[in-house]
Amino acid sequence: MSGEIQESGAGLTALLSVLGEVVSTTEDDLRRASFDAMKLAFPPEAVVTPTAEEQVGQLLVLANEFQVPVTTRGAGSSLTGSAAPLKGGWVLDLSRMNAFSIDRDERVCVAQAGVVVADLQAEAEEVELFYPPDPSSKKFCTIGGNVACNAGGLRCVKYGVTRDYVRALAGFLPTGEKVRWGRATRKFATGYNLRDLWIGSEGTLGVVTEVTLGLALKPACRRTFLAAFPDEATALEAPFALPALGLQPSILEFLDQWTVSCVESFTGKTVLDGVSGLPLLLIELDGHPAQVEESAEQLTSWLEKTAVARRIAASEEEAEELWEVRRTGSPAMRKLANTKLNEDVVVPLRRQVELVSFVNLLREERDLRIGTFGHCGDGNLHVNFMYDREDENEAERARVALGELMKKVVELGGAISGEHGIGLAKTEFAPLMFNDAEWETMQAIKRTLDPNGILNPGKLFHAFRPWEQVPVNETLPWEHGVEECQPIKS
Ligand SMILES: Cc1cc2nc3c(=O)[nH]c(=O)nc-3n(C[C@H](O)[C@H](O)[C@H](O)COP(=O)(O)OP(=O)(O)OC[C@H]3O[C@@H](n4cnc5c(N)ncnc54)[C@H](O)[C@@H]3O)c2cc1C
Repeated sequence: MSGEIQESGAGLTALLSVLGEVVSTTEDDLRRASFDAMKLAFPPEAVVTPTAEEQVGQLLVLANEFQVPVTTRGAGSSLTGSAAPLKGGWVLDLSRMNAFSIDRDERVCVAQAGVVVADLQAEAEEVELFYPPDPSSKKFCTIGGNVACNAGGLRCVKYGVTRDYVRALAGFLPTGEKVRWGRATRKFATGYNLRDLWIGSEGTLGVVTEVTLGLALKPACRRTFLAAFPDEATALEAPFALPALGLQPSILEFLDQWTVSCVESFTGKTVLDGVSGLPLLLIELDGHPAQVEESAEQLTSWLEKTAVARRIAASEEEAEELWEVRRTGSPAMRKLANTKLNEDVVVPLRRQVELVSFVNLLREERDLRIGTFGHCGDGNLHVNFMYDREDENEAERARVALGELMKKVVELGGAISGEHGIGLAKTEFAPLMFNDAEWETMQAIKRTLDPNGILNPGKLFHAFRPWEQVPVNETLPWEHGVEECQPIKS
């Protein structure tokens, strides 16, 4: 790859001399690497796209020697600014390290960090295996990014999150030494579990170059249901009522009344015949056909007692139609205003009704457009604030309401992020989650592993005010035709 030197610092000169063929300083490459899906841009000095593992180590050694910040990047689909190079320096883009192999007998996949999640899933399904974590961004996000954010998705309610499938990680310490945490084995009780310390650390404690994943058996069939409920509290009983019947849905998605009305105005039709503006659940069962049939009967009889209206997909095409309702939530909201904050808060299942009532109150009292939808099977609801940036009064009301929401979530025993992470977007609220000892322990770990503060500086610990930044009006290559947090089916 050819590069034009824009700044002739000693670090950049050394970088070009050691890794020249994988370094770019072209204006286009620098611009593309300057922002992620949060759209706040900070120009880097160079973009490095290694093709071999040892190049990652070489880059980190140079970065420490010349004190240059390094921000690791997969697809840049982070919604929190975690992949944006806040302090400039070098972007380490791993998207070209994208080889993987599957061992069918061991039910293990070994993938380089830049593998796109949907590619890995498709290949696993070819041999009747299954990689369940399915962030809605799976068609473009990378397994390295998923590990760094401990990505979730729609099927977590039954199958768990990325962490539950990672057996081993290989990569580099911030200071450039190669390490491997864990093994491909099903069990591992040998030494400190630094594999799990890396998972969810948002690229601040190391660079993952290879991930070893355990795979499940592919479920043979699925049934999809959409149902409308008289009120939100009744719908949010499902996470208790279904397990009490012995049912374990693979999808349990909630849309509040406001979101459903928004979808109906957007499409110009009601989502279920005969009812309008009522909260919805999208439910899916999967597994062995006989078992799914039996569970479907039980679920149908529960819905007959509790739901106002219901539809059960009789074919894949009908299932797609039901999914379309959930997918439309985000685009329908986007039509309302030019700014959308998607807060992926998580609370204990029992506190979801309080959370949704609180959001309803905020909407009314602060006169805001706020909709809630998401993964009610694991308490991870996405609260979406829509406002126009140029309307200072409305933007300020949204900012205040966001702070109130975060305080409420913590009060309810929840967390300010269930799957997207802190990045830059939530640094202001992170201290709500930790006492001094906890906060200091996390910072001590960072200082120990990264004494020069090279990796992803400015994230997690440092208060950042996204409100004061102007987002870029640009798209990333994967963005064409994609709406935020839609379930994208493979
Ligand atoms: C439309 C849309 C839908 C989404 N839906 C979901 C969803 O359902 N569930 C969910 O959890 N998230 C979702 N996300 C958020 C995002 O896709 C995930 O956080 C994903 O894990 C990021 O992967 P990436 O490859 O794009 O990583 P990037 O955005 O490039 O990076 C994210 C973070 O990981 C670090 N990182 C990346 N690669 C590595 C590596 N190899 N080693 C160390 N650190 C690394 C970066 O430094 C950064 O801190 C969605 C985003 C979009 C745009």
